[in-house]
Amino acid sequence: MLLKVEGLVVKYGHIEALHGIDIHVDEGEIVTILGANGAGKSTTLLTISGLLRPASGAIFFGDIPIHKLPAHDIVKLGIAQVPEGRRLFGTLTVRENLLLGAITQKNKSKVLDMEQSIYKLFPVLEERRSQLAGTLSGGEQQMLAIGRALMSNPKLLLLDEPSLGLAPLLVKNIFQTIKDINREGVTVLIVEQNARVALSIAHRGYVMETGRIVLTDYSEALLNNPDVKKAYLGGK
Ligand code: ATP
Repeated sequence: MLLKVEGLVVKYGHIEALHGIDIHVDEGEIVTILGANGAGKSTTLLTISGLLRPASGAIFFGDIPIHKLPAHDIVKLGIAQVPEGRRLFGTLTVRENLLLGAITQKNKSKVLDMEQSIYKLFPVLEERRSQLAGTLSGGEQQMLAIGRALMSNPKLLLLDEPSLGLAPLLVKNIFQTIKDINREGVTVLIVEQNARVALSIAHRGYVMETGRIVLTDYSEALLNNPDVKKAYLGGK
């Protein structure tokens, strides 16, 4: 098991956003957490990456408890997050944004190799490497945010709503690329409101409602589950 979340409780002040959730991700998997706005999906990812602290519960990366580690140590262990809304540095170039993703990597030639492999994955980023990130289209910004996360050479990639604000064709492309990244050996945990597209590439999924996991199964079973169809797949 690469990631294990046990009885995770997270609070914002007095308000409890996660009421004790259990999730695991095996090495090599793509796992998705589905749920409506405000269900607690982003809170879960932010806690795994060390940006929020749990009130109780535990998170293990392999055998290592990480729920008390600072975020930069968690990145060093091999977890990278692509945040909701991408959070790029708009006044820096594409290349500068990518290099920031490799800030923990001391070996320069490794960083340059990594940069080349990102350009292979997303050729448009190479064309635009000297362009300011703030001038990219939404789809290109999502590619750059994923590329920046990959620059830290993660074992586990956390993606928060990669489909947000993108046209359907672009969503398809981005998810195909996430599948390719997974084939290259990166384990993936995606939170998404777009259940159909997330389940199209995920091996398994969890359904989250108001801070609780209410259902978990293989993607195919979730796609055929009447409750999931009704609530998350437009009834079809
Ligand atoms: P979204 O898709 O909108 O990001 P989500 O499933 O990721 O939704 P969270 O953002 O994790 O949900 O929010 C879970 C709950 O915690 C919600 O009730 C939300 O209002 C609350 N919450 C989130 N961030 C904060 C905050 N900074 N302060 C107080 N409450 C918050």
